[in-house]
Amino acid sequence: MSKSKSSESVKVVVRCRPMNEKERAAKFERVVTVDVKLGQIMVRNPREASASEPPKVFTFDSVYDSNSKQIDLYDETFRPLVESVLLGFNGTIFAYGQTGTGKTYTMEGVRNDPERRGVIPNSFEHIFTHISRSQNQQYLVRASYLEIYQEEIRDLLSKDQARRLELRERPDTGVYVKDLSSFVTKSVREIEHVMNVGNQNRSVGATNMNEHSSRSHAIFVITVECSELGVDGENHIRVGKLNLVDLAGSERQTKTGAQGERLKEATKINLSLSALGNVISALVDGRSSHIPYRDSKLTRLLQDSLGGNARTVMVANIGPASYNVEETLTTLRYSNRAKNIKNKPRVNEDPKDALLREFQEEIARLKEQLQKRSVKKKKKRQRRKAGEGSDGEDGEDGETEDDDEDGEDRGDYWREQQEKLERERKAIMEDHSLVADEKARLLREKERKMEDLRKEKEAGEMLAAKVKAMESKLLVGGKNIVDHTNEQQRMLELKRQEIAEQKRREREMQQQVESRDEETLELKETYSSLQQEVDIKTKKLKKLFAKLQAVKSEIQDTQEAHIKDRQDLEQTQNELTRDLKLKHLIIENFIPLEEKNKIVNRAFLDEEDEHWKMKPITRIEDDHHMMTRPLSAVGYRRPLSHHARMAMMMKPDMRYKAENILMVDMDLPARTTKVYQEPVIAPKVAAALEDALRDEDEIQVDASGFHSSLGPTPPASASGSLKKPKSGRPRTGKKSSTPTSPFSPSSPGSPLYPQSRGLVPK
Ligand code: ADP
Ligand code: MG
Repeated sequence: MSKSKSSESVKVVVRCRPMNEKERAAKFERVVTVDVKLGQIMVRNPREASASEPPKVFTFDSVYDSNSKQIDLYDETFRPLVESVLLGFNGTIFAYGQTGTGKTYTMEGVRNDPERRGVIPNSFEHIFTHISRSQNQQYLVRASYLEIYQEEIRDLLSKDQARRLELRERPDTGVYVKDLSSFVTKSVREIEHVMNVGNQNRSVGATNMNEHSSRSHAIFVITVECSELGVDGENHIRVGKLNLVDLAGSERQTKTGAQGERLKEATKINLSLSALGNVISALVDGRSSHIPYRDSKLTRLLQDSLGGNARTVMVANIGPASYNVEETLTTLRYSNRAKNIKNKPRVNEDPKDALLREFQEEIARLKEQLQKRSVKKKKKRQRRKAGEGSDGEDGEDGETEDDDEDGEDRGDYWREQQEKLERERKAIMEDHSLVADEKARLLREKERKMEDLRKEKEAGEMLAAKVKAMESKLLVGGKNIVDHTNEQQRMLELKRQEIAEQKRREREMQQQVESRDEETLELKETYSSLQQEVDIKTKKLKKLFAKLQAVKSEIQDTQEAHIKDRQDLEQTQNELTRDLKLKHLIIENFIPLEEKNKIVNRAFLDEEDEHWKMKPITRIEDDHHMMTRPLSAVGYRRPLSHHARMAMMMKPDMRYKAENILMVDMDLPARTTKVYQEPVIAPKVAAALEDALRDEDEIQVDASGFHSSLGPTPPASASGSLKKPKSGRPRTGKKSSTPTSPFSPSSPGSPLYPQSRGLVPK
């Protein structure tokens, strides 16, 4: 493992979005000022009373105003990070901020507009361009896409969207998502397709996409593996992983009045975000030795990116308008703290779980198989050729043939074989000396041989195709390295990078100049008179006083925010306590003590899943295996009689080997069925069904022919439109004309019920 000794800070940039139509229409004040040169954000207090208050100032690595272009952000801030992922570092980009401030715009942007594409599509382009320009390197790129909603992980690329995934931990590779699907992609188009599929799945489960996306975290993961021949003559593999995280909206979730499930939901939604905040605080506060990564799925999954071995960029998105000022300040404070997190980036070299290595090994194995097949054939052919020729002396030489010839040879070989069989078949057909039976048998045999030949050919082709498919997934560059436009583009990129670098340096210098200003001023100053000294010192005092005031107000703000947080937590605690009390009450009053004890004894906490589970019911309490057979004779699993023991000693008879041959322990059955889910019926079909099943009140029945065969004439009113009995289903003609007619002649004038529809001619 090559380690870079130095640690580096998490890079934090802030982006302020432009005012949107609504805000402009409502004439909201702009309270955020962005100083791109100095990397500063100034936030004015919009309240009338505090108009004289100085604005709050925050300094970041870089800041972007509403005119910032996506590509500028990429070149200055994200490109270096993606570049290091290509070198084998892990990298993470977070977008943090209130809903509607441009997190998704920054991460994804407008996909089919090259100008407004976000980091994710830009990184696709970057990665595959880098690969196409590389030389003597083999790459494997794969992508995964997951979502965390209410502390549940959903694989956005899996077929079964109802399934929830678990986090697992391994000592060598750290935390990972078990069974997360990942797709190997060979081009920008393919990886874009993967992203589109994930995005579609993301919106499928949600009734309100906007609300859902503002409450869930989406993580797109690109893994780039690169294999290169090292100086030691061995292939070395570097693996870089890029996490692109679009976090849930950071705004406070209101919990007021919520109960039960609703409360739980509200509590869980921001759990990951507040855990992220706690992790950041713990990392920055040098005193705490415990970092609460385990408090949420998000922080566990991104542990490496916060104080770990990854490079991290955090984009804080804010809105400019006055009504957002509270959230804007919260976001700025939150990200201001994150600036101080130190990571120790490290290249992942030759990790055990590199997929590229598996691919390379599998390809080598398949190729070997393929070669073995063709060698066998060649041997056969040589032997045959030799047989046809003089004596077969030169058969041996043929086997040392070159492999390259193999490919072309193979086709010839198949053709030759097929033609030969065909020729033989024809010869048999035309041979009149053979008996019909014999002829048929020979023909069958030949056909079978031809079939075998075809099968073998197919198997060979399949193997070759498999090798080809696997090889095509491994990407190599260097093909169009001399390409002129390519070269120009590269120069352009280099220049852009240089400019970005220069801008950064300029900004840093300016910041330094600013901070040193006061000190140098004092040193250089020589006072010509006492009055001047007083003036200058007064000016300085004023400046310092303003600073003091700023710090004081900052302290007050922080305290206020702290109190708010605290109240929030207290409220949550109260409501949870109330919930708990209710449950206790139910348990104490409605569940028999004996049953309760049984349940308590069976419950245990699964550390891995962090869930309470129930042990299966067994005859022995606190043992979840089946009861073992009692031992009576030492060394034997079954009691032995004296006779059996004697017989065993005398002769080795199977009969007295009192061991079970079969496993007789019973397995407790696992559930193999699913919860019934009602089928979903399309509205059209439902309407048609309803129509078909409707009560047939309106059916006109012609019963005029009745009186002749069924005695007295029914009342006239009934003969016109007859009501059918209420029934959910239409009656068939057959049913309604059942012989047990209710019109008994003895009850003249009784209501006609039920009645023939008159569909069957009398
Ligand atoms: P979030 O994901 O943080 O909830 P979105 O990315 O969905 O916010 O942004 C909300 C709206 O603001 C979108 O319509 C988006 O196009 C627009 N928007 C955000 N940032 C910018 C920007 N820098 N320039 C132009 N439009 C932006
Ligand atoms: Mg969003």
